[in-house]
Amino acid sequence: MKKIDNNLRIRDILDLLARTYPDAHCELNYRNPFELLVATILSAQTTDQKVNQVTAELFKHYPTPQKLHELTPEELGDKIRTIGLFRTKAENILKSCRILIEKYNGQVPQTMEELVNLPGVGRKTASVVLANAFGIPAFPVDTHVSRVARRLGLTSEKDPERVEKDLTMLIPKEQWIDCHHRLIFHGRRLCKARKPQCATCPLKSYCLFDNMGC
Ligand code: SF4
Repeated sequence: MKKIDNNLRIRDILDLLARTYPDAHCELNYRNPFELLVATILSAQTTDQKVNQVTAELFKHYPTPQKLHELTPEELGDKIRTIGLFRTKAENILKSCRILIEKYNGQVPQTMEELVNLPGVGRKTASVVLANAFGIPAFPVDTHVSRVARRLGLTSEKDPERVEKDLTMLIPKEQWIDCHHRLIFHGRRLCKARKPQCATCPLKSYCLFDNMGC
């Protein structure tokens, strides 16, 4: 009986998220898998808005691994210097470009195993590329997904891989991509880290926040 109650609760939460954020989507701008890969590497510890400002110009002139790889780390660093950790990111992006050119004929690979072997690409970045560029079910867990999922009682974990494991067990596979976008939208718009807008939150009756103090 308890399991049925929990299943209903999760279904209600997913329905509410879907109704509240029907057009939730990736907020990074990109035109192909390569651009998404670069944008996602750049997005670590910075906002999508800042990344979009930088990539609008960058992708105009360097739309392929071959073109981008013509730059030195210093030259690329200069073009992305408004973004946190720009030196490390420039080096990782250029090393990844080289691998894409030499090993994948300039294409972005479509498996988790291959993606996480690219410099600067962790499980979250790989999942973003798989889900958004290729429509392959994946559940990228960032700070918003992790926080909102805990507040809603969908996980009690903090480690991203464990959060991902809990969410992918609870949520039907065909909803992973949409649901991850909706959790991010909720985290950015209402369920903010410091001052969540609980008074206007449609998920309030399902929320454990008061009891958790997170
Ligand atoms: S009630 Fe508040 S803490 Fe809970 S999900 Fe909504 S915004 Fe987040």
